[in-house]
Amino acid sequence: MEYVRQKIRDVYEFPKPGIIFRDLTTMFKDARAMHIVGWDLAQLYRDKGVTKVVGIESRGFIGGAIMAYEIGAGFVPARKPGKLPADTVRADFAKEYGTDTIEIHRDAITPDDVVVIHDDLLATGGTMAACYELVKSMNPKKVYINFIVELSDLHGRDNLPKDAEVTSLIVY
Ligand code: 5GP
Repeated sequence: MEYVRQKIRDVYEFPKPGIIFRDLTTMFKDARAMHIVGWDLAQLYRDKGVTKVVGIESRGFIGGAIMAYEIGAGFVPARKPGKLPADTVRADFAKEYGTDTIEIHRDAITPDDVVVIHDDLLATGGTMAACYELVKSMNPKKVYINFIVELSDLHGRDNLPKDAEVTSLIVY
């Protein structure tokens, strides 16, 4: 995993002054790092009976789709508002400035499903907390939460539901 960590690029002052952005595109473009990440994500959930992986737009689509393929699950996109064509369920959540919204197709998850929600990175946890509640409201058997990277100094786990089972591959 040290190899993968070294492939993540720190971009200073992005998207605004004072922020260090952990840029995963430099990791995704490296074939060996992609292989390691895909395999390690899958290893976390191989024996858990997972039927659907929900990936959060847009960077969560990459690892989410790889994980789904590796463990033999389906993939469900959680998208920004107005992108999904059919009937959706949606959740609004607070961002640093104003609010944001996330949508999932209403028929994407059923009570028979065991779900992993995947995003590339946990910062404050607001995005994932909203997505978790949305998926929960669709009454699947079980919902897991997964990230490639977790920024521990932002204490995002504290904003995730206490009962949620959370994993991440790399912690800063
Ligand atoms: P949160 O809701 O946890 O504060 O923010 C997480 C969301 O913002 C994720 O969807 C993630 O892609 C994006 N994000 C926030 N900070 C970073 C960062 O430093 N690097 C990357 N790659 N994504 C970030």
